[in-house]
Amino acid sequence: MRLEERGVVRGIITQNVDLLHEDAGARTVIDLHGRYDRVICLSCSRVISREHLAERLTALNPGFIESVAGNVEDIEIAPDADAVIEQTAHFHPAPCEFCGGVLKPEIVYFGENVPRERVERAYALVDSADALLVAGSSLAVMSGLRFVKRAAKDGKPVVVVNRGVTRGDSLATLLVHAGVTQALTELADRL
Ligand SMILES: [Zn+2]
Repeated sequence: MRLEERGVVRGIITQNVDLLHEDAGARTVIDLHGRYDRVICLSCSRVISREHLAERLTALNPGFIESVAGNVEDIEIAPDADAVIEQTAHFHPAPCEFCGGVLKPEIVYFGENVPRERVERAYALVDSADALLVAGSSLAVMSGLRFVKRAAKDGKPVVVVNRGVTRGDSLATLLVHAGVTQALTELADRL
């Protein structure tokens, strides 16, 4: 995260949901597709941590983990769906504690839209920047490609660092066909 420390990178828009950038120390990160460590209510949109949900599930299902512990591998690879249902039939799911709604991971799945507010924050970040660097994404989905289009439309330099072709190549000012780690490490070394 040397690039951010030196003010070269103003923020990161990522399609990862595994908090790699946060764990690496990045300060300004927009998790476009959500975060695996959070859970959202489909009814009231309140967000809680997965850790908190896990505590509630444990309280609702005393002894459940122990009862299936020996069979966890069987559950995951079972070709027979009945076996899975049988073993989890007594599991009590936790509804939203605020409204009773259904909870799901706060992750944008294929076919879902990125929340409008998050898209606007990402656009604002792009608008505040002098240039856009695409690092290690094929831009296969529109959720990322639209920011490249925005920067290009505004006449800003767009640099794409990726080993293969991307859907943003025709909009790029510079294409670097290299690994992201190597390219960005060399860039940081020269600052
Ligand atoms: Zn709710």
